[in-house]
Amino acid sequence: MRKNIVAGNWKMNKDHEGALSLTSEVVHMAGDELTDDVTLVIIPPFPFLKPVSSLLPEESHVFLGAQNCHWENSGAFTGEVSASMLASIGVEYVVIGHSERREYFSETNEQLARKVDAVLNQGMIPIFCCGEPLEIREHGDPYQYVTKQLTESIFHLEENEMAKVVIAYEPIWAIGTGKTATSDQAQYMHAALRKHIEERYGKDLSSRISILYGGSCKPSNAPDLFSCEDVDGGLIGGASLSSRDFVDIAKSF
Ligand code: PEP
Repeated sequence: MRKNIVAGNWKMNKDHEGALSLTSEVVHMAGDELTDDVTLVIIPPFPFLKPVSSLLPEESHVFLGAQNCHWENSGAFTGEVSASMLASIGVEYVVIGHSERREYFSETNEQLARKVDAVLNQGMIPIFCCGEPLEIREHGDPYQYVTKQLTESIFHLEENEMAKVVIAYEPIWAIGTGKTATSDQAQYMHAALRKHIEERYGKDLSSRISILYGGSCKPSNAPDLFSCEDVDGGLIGGASLSSRDFVDIAKSF
């Protein structure tokens, strides 16, 4: 059975105090209101990883994630953070290939393949993001665009590594815009991505990969999206900055 995952990408938001209070609220509410069927991942900015981790109970289904990492373990890469550094402080998930990193920091599919390797080599789980921009949705072939991202960044993995990857389908036109994909649009793309994975890795493996939806997901639309057969949760941006909204989204399965 695949995992249901709701991951909160805080992006470049919160200060130290705000990070601690948001985490405490989420941990508290999750303990009271959620069952073990949902995995929550809190993904704060780098400076808050360690303080946030100190608030996560050992026996809990709330995990720590990072927003990015470098592909090398160490070296002269000023301003970068390596996968081994993240693993050494207890990070378990790392977002790779978020559209904001692709757009503002020119990350390429080839670089992302190396980052995915680095994360897996450190025993962590990559949340690999893919998704098409508006012009491709309106005038191009979204399926071809997104499957190319998968092929070039994760299809070099051996089966046992691929089995650990979480995919987040995030249509760029829906991120932070308030414009959500309809559940039909999400289900269509998620099923197509799963089929693409099946063609490369077989049905058994493809049926075990969690594929999350991302893009203006909130408590009001999450039940509809999460009821889709191939949608296994969400990567949540804006709504993850509110503990109430984030936990309500996680209650939507
Ligand atoms: C994201 O940043 O991955 C995201 C989905 O953002 P939002 O939920 O704000 O659209």
